[in-house]
Amino acid sequence: MPETKPLPKLESLIDQRNAVKNLTSVIRRDTIPHAFLFTGNEGAGKRTAAITFVMACNCDENRIVSSFSEASIDKVTGSCGKCRSCRKILSGNHPDVIFIKPSGTFIKISQIRELCAQLAVKPYEKGYRAVIISDAGTMNKEAGNALLKILEEPPERTIIILTAFQMSDLLPTIVSRCRHVRFSPVSKEKISSFLTKKHGVDVGRANVIASMAEGSFTRALEMNKGNWLHVRRRLIQEMEELQSGRILPCLMFAERLAGKKELVQYSLEIIKNWFRDLIVYKYSPEKVLNQDLVERVEAASEKVEVKTLMSKIRAIQKAQKAIDANANLRLTLENFAMEIVSLRQ
Ligand SMILES: [Zn+2]
Repeated sequence: MPETKPLPKLESLIDQRNAVKNLTSVIRRDTIPHAFLFTGNEGAGKRTAAITFVMACNCDENRIVSSFSEASIDKVTGSCGKCRSCRKILSGNHPDVIFIKPSGTFIKISQIRELCAQLAVKPYEKGYRAVIISDAGTMNKEAGNALLKILEEPPERTIIILTAFQMSDLLPTIVSRCRHVRFSPVSKEKISSFLTKKHGVDVGRANVIASMAEGSFTRALEMNKGNWLHVRRRLIQEMEELQSGRILPCLMFAERLAGKKELVQYSLEIIKNWFRDLIVYKYSPEKVLNQDLVERVEAASEKVEVKTLMSKIRAIQKAQKAIDANANLRLTLENFAMEIVSLRQ
């Protein structure tokens, strides 16, 4: 399957000392397993790590790492980034590097069957062939069992890398055949300095984004790209203006949220972080995430009790779960908005 998205930059591997150590040690010892499972939250750099690892395994310069250093990504990955093989992988045009990702919500059995057919022939080039399966936790049982057959009889010179949020998202029989590499959430400081140094974001904005990106570069970059800080302010404003007993504004609020379907979970996270801040402010004001809105946090926090705020957060979590389970979006958000406003003081 051709990869259409531009490949992420290598620096996204920042802050993954253990994962990088783990991967470089298998290259150094030349004991590359047939299959890996990379787990960790979205945006921690799993896919980037998979690509850089495959580059390192195939680099024509074959600069195998002799020492681990976070200072230089070239040393970390052991690839030159310039040779024929590296360039082909970076451009997404290497014939032996196969990407699989969910087609819609799931990875389908047909995708794994197609992979089986691809793996039945020998690799085109002399190095390693690699299969990078993103969001492998979205495979249904059928697809998982088909993949298991491949893992049970691994094809020659082929590395299969699965990425997932957590081990329990996959069949235990698959997990047991993979070398597990865990990715940790990236620290706020690293995300903030990544935004300021690599993307020219001013420090104040970078700090607010970093504090809300939940350890994810992907999320931080998305927030920076869109007019996210403004959207967040407006969302909080609209929600704070909703009043109990007034049904129409609640329905309109739900309609606006539902209108941007792809942003619904983000919006709910923003609202959840807001209520979280109202609680946190009462105990440790310095730990508030919405640092740039701290005066509003203070004013709003004084008016609501912790118990009520906890109930509001539970209402958000309930809505998030329902949306994940494909419940009716509009209805879920309407119920959510009504519940939030009915919980006063
Ligand atoms: Zn190279």
